[in-house]
Amino acid sequence: MAGRKGPLFIVSGPSGSGKSTALRRLLSQTNLPLKLAVSATTRPPRPGELDGVDYYFWSRDRFERELAKDSFLEWAEVFGNYYGTLRSEVEPAREQGQGVILEIDVNGARQVRQRCPDAVSIFLRAPSLETYKERLEARGTENEETIQRRLARIQTELQCASEYDYQVINDDLQATVDRLAEMVQQGFERRNHA
Ligand code: ADP
Ligand code: 5GP
Repeated sequence: MAGRKGPLFIVSGPSGSGKSTALRRLLSQTNLPLKLAVSATTRPPRPGELDGVDYYFWSRDRFERELAKDSFLEWAEVFGNYYGTLRSEVEPAREQGQGVILEIDVNGARQVRQRCPDAVSIFLRAPSLETYKERLEARGTENEETIQRRLARIQTELQCASEYDYQVINDDLQATVDRLAEMVQQGFERRNHA
């Protein structure tokens, strides 16, 4: 409905659960006005990742300057790097009726839930603990030390799953994308009937 603010979605899940892959496919398939907010991070780009597309790749200095200016809707330190959602990636789009998805960690999700109680939150998990390791190794973008660091955080993140409105087990990728698409559709419909 014209004039209504676009819905906000939070997607979290342990590293290797398939968030980026599922969201990329969702965005390529949907007809809804939907965008993925580009986060800022101090982690270095992986091969193929582009500045301004996958992330804004910033120095710690730059990130801290933006923090001081209150530019972030939320931020967290994850795996030794800063990650944060810029307000400018979210608010103008929502004002224009666009839905916005945040792919953020569990600490960031808590901050967003407090600030935006209308946000719909989704926790994505792999079918088993072994699957995370297999998927991270298959992705081949991290060295063994970084993979171990990511695996060590899985249990902590899984303990937060019940804080989310929905949980999705990402076994078959297309089934996951279809489930996410339903949730997003519902988010738009709820907004229209509010
Ligand atoms: P995250 O963003 O949660 O860290 P990715 O989307 O990068 O995870 O996925 C990690 C790896 O697992 C990638 O290589 C991706 O292609 C693969 N993957 C994602 N979803 C599935 C799935 N449903 N079945 C098999 N492999 C998957
Ligand atoms: P990656 O380095 O694999 O891209 O992301 C690592 C973790 O940081 C993931 O759990 C991802 O969801 C989280 N993350 C990415 N962007 C943000 C953000 O803007 N804020 C927060 N809090 N976490 C983020």
